[in-house]
Amino acid sequence: MEDCIFCKIVKGEIPCYKIYENKKAIAFLDINPIAKGHILVLPKNHYENIFEIDEESIKEVALAIKNVAILQREKLGLQGMNIFQANNAIAGQTIFHIHFHLVPRYAGDNINAWPKSNYFEKDIKGLHKLLTK
Ligand code: 5GP
Ligand code: ZN
Repeated sequence: MEDCIFCKIVKGEIPCYKIYENKKAIAFLDINPIAKGHILVLPKNHYENIFEIDEESIKEVALAIKNVAILQREKLGLQGMNIFQANNAIAGQTIFHIHFHLVPRYAGDNINAWPKSNYFEKDIKGLHKLLTK
């Protein structure tokens, strides 16, 4: 897609520090990392978000995520890993070409991966019915 930074990276029009690629996915270092070894994994084709990506691409992306995570664990001495992915601006998406953030976790890094919410579910049973009927 024209005007998409990540499509330009895939095409080699903008440089990146590539870490891994397979048939349908690519992984490179985030330009503004929140932790040492923060890597983005994305499909080579342009899909805006999780609702749009096709099955073959998401499978290849999942495989890439697994392989990159293993590489990070081998090379970085991390103690844990968070995988983040934002869909739409309300969720914090800023680049509208789906991507997964693989964020290595280190003791004392102070990253708050699970923000508190004041939401309280009053009707778990009803919600289950809604989602499964
Ligand atoms: P989002 O908020 O959409 O989930 O995350 C977009 C991510 O892309 C951010 O972490 C940002 O640092 C990263 N990013 C934005 N532009 C570039 C770029 O040109 N190159 C690379 N490698 N990362 C980028
Ligand atoms: Zn794109």
